[in-house]
Amino acid sequence: MKEQVKISLAEQVIETCLAMNASGLNHGKSGNVSVRCEGGMLITPSGVAYDQLEPDDLVFLDLDGRYHGPLLPSSEWRMHLDIYRSRVEAKAVVHVHSSYATALSCHRKSIPAFHYMVAVAGGQDIRCSDYALFGTQALSEAMLVALEERKACLLGNHGQIAYGDDLASAFWLAGEVEGLARDYSHALMLGEPHILGDEEMKAVLTKFRIYGKQLHEVAEEDRPLMDMPQAFNP
Ligand code: 13P
Ligand code: ZN
Repeated sequence: MKEQVKISLAEQVIETCLAMNASGLNHGKSGNVSVRCEGGMLITPSGVAYDQLEPDDLVFLDLDGRYHGPLLPSSEWRMHLDIYRSRVEAKAVVHVHSSYATALSCHRKSIPAFHYMVAVAGGQDIRCSDYALFGTQALSEAMLVALEERKACLLGNHGQIAYGDDLASAFWLAGEVEGLARDYSHALMLGEPHILGDEEMKAVLTKFRIYGKQLHEVAEEDRPLMDMPQAFNP
């Protein structure tokens, strides 16, 4: 990897870490961030305060799980590595101890389809994994089970993890998961919320294929899904 590319990616990782704490999505030294790069990933070092990070502190970890350089990678390198190994589309991973996601995870509660937006993680719910000790292969394996066909999950008695096709989208998804965890927690305070059915959620997942896209970005076969007003043609 060219030095300039590495520095630029490292700077983006640091920006994401700072945004993650400034936005309240994470606190202190908890959590970790990585971005895929040629031959592996750049990942935050373990236990270093984000506001002290310099681009050179980011750790290159190759796809064989070997770290290069003087600093130890995040203790959760196994979760990051297993995501990059098993999901070709994953380009960045964000793990945070966001408050509401963590609260639900402490009750081992998955987030069901109480709101149609749970589909942002790719399916009909956002699962919560079993508990395993932080930084272990057992935790990574529990995560992979909860992540099946999903881009995010809660981690039992721990927090949440999300991935995306770049740092911005992984960070955005972690924020969405936290928002849903907050809304679900509030909805539970009023009693058991109504859970959307299979067919209702399938329709949401289908509609997500076109949501937020302009006509030219939508595949021909998906055009009928677009329920738009008539264009004004003077
Ligand atoms: P690291 O500082 O080793 O990344 O650990 C933080 C964390 O969230 C462990 O789960
Ligand atoms: Zn953690």
